[in-house]
Amino acid sequence: MTGRVCNYAAVFQLTVTLCALLTFSTYQLSNYYSTVPKLLTIGSSLLNLSNFDTPISSNNVSLINEVNGLMPLSGYLGRNNSSPDPTSCPRSDSQASNRLCVPLTLADLNSTCPKPVDFGRLRCGFWLAPPACGAATACVAVIVPYRNRLVNLLLLVQHLHNLLQRQAINHGIFVVEQNDQLPFNRAKLLNIGFKLSQNYHSCDCFVFHDADKLPESLLVDYSCSQGRPRHLIGRLLNLASRKYSPGKMYHNFFGGVVAVTKRQFESVNGNSNLYYGWGREDDELSVRLRIKHWRVAYSDQSAKYVNLKHADDIKVNSMPWPSVSAVRRRMTSDGLNSLKYNLTGVYCHPLFTIFSVQV
Ligand code: UDP
Ligand code: MN
Repeated sequence: MTGRVCNYAAVFQLTVTLCALLTFSTYQLSNYYSTVPKLLTIGSSLLNLSNFDTPISSNNVSLINEVNGLMPLSGYLGRNNSSPDPTSCPRSDSQASNRLCVPLTLADLNSTCPKPVDFGRLRCGFWLAPPACGAATACVAVIVPYRNRLVNLLLLVQHLHNLLQRQAINHGIFVVEQNDQLPFNRAKLLNIGFKLSQNYHSCDCFVFHDADKLPESLLVDYSCSQGRPRHLIGRLLNLASRKYSPGKMYHNFFGGVVAVTKRQFESVNGNSNLYYGWGREDDELSVRLRIKHWRVAYSDQSAKYVNLKHADDIKVNSMPWPSVSAVRRRMTSDGLNSLKYNLTGVYCHPLFTIFSVQV
């Protein structure tokens, strides 16, 4: 389309120049593998955000820190804008039911399900419980590994803000987007999110959260246990069959949505960085935790989740099943201490912070 407009206006030198520029920038955009620009525009229009922050983009962490500052949490919450501070705690006006409105479509997100409180005042996905909630001590950093699953992501983040607010948990949501052409490396993205999120928000509890798993009940506990890594999904609803399956899919399963403390995750040197492609990276983390004598706590049946649909576009990796001996051998040299990646941008969306990376 750009080409036709350009031909028509070719006699005007200025227009030609403008067209060339336009074509160039369209080319640049279509060549830009990342879905971040799409995510920002679609995210802001769909969610009808008026106070949308412009993206902050840079090539390295120190520059981002210069631009963005290591802002105190209250800074992110826009304390000085016109909306009044909330006086009530979302927990105290919670309804009798433990069932949550789970958005399954973008229409649900916009009209059927409630907006998070403070909706217009969320910045970069941070929320601090108002004083009326009492001394809320818990603080959770939610890390979502992401590539090209926009609808899943949008449904998840608003929903999580709702739930965490009703649980009166201070929290931040971090999306780690893989913006290269390599097979998806979920485990490495989680390592990156674990590391980078600490520049912005010093939580002790990390929830590694797949984009397609939405909690259905207020009873799902989004907190960590100092003594036990936690697996959060008790039961998982398949939307096609309307049937629940166990969240613990097999012995020692540790995928989907899990909660670990900083100490637990660091004690195993985080995830392996070697798993390019689908599968087994979560089993390696499970083995790592067992080697370090952490016993996983599994959620009971009340922790219900919905499994959203998505295309199965992820390549299966070629890593063998992680045996205890292999994991023991590589654990001290492959993980957080060997993590290498290229950070191409940090973006501040009202509902989440995005780290865009090449792995
Ligand atoms: N994921 C993604 N884009 C991809 C593949 C995976 O964003 O192309 C993320 C997303 O958060 C997803 C998680 O990785 O929920 C796990 O991948 P997937 O859902 O494909 O695995 P499943 O749990 O369905 O086996
Ligand atoms: Mn999935």
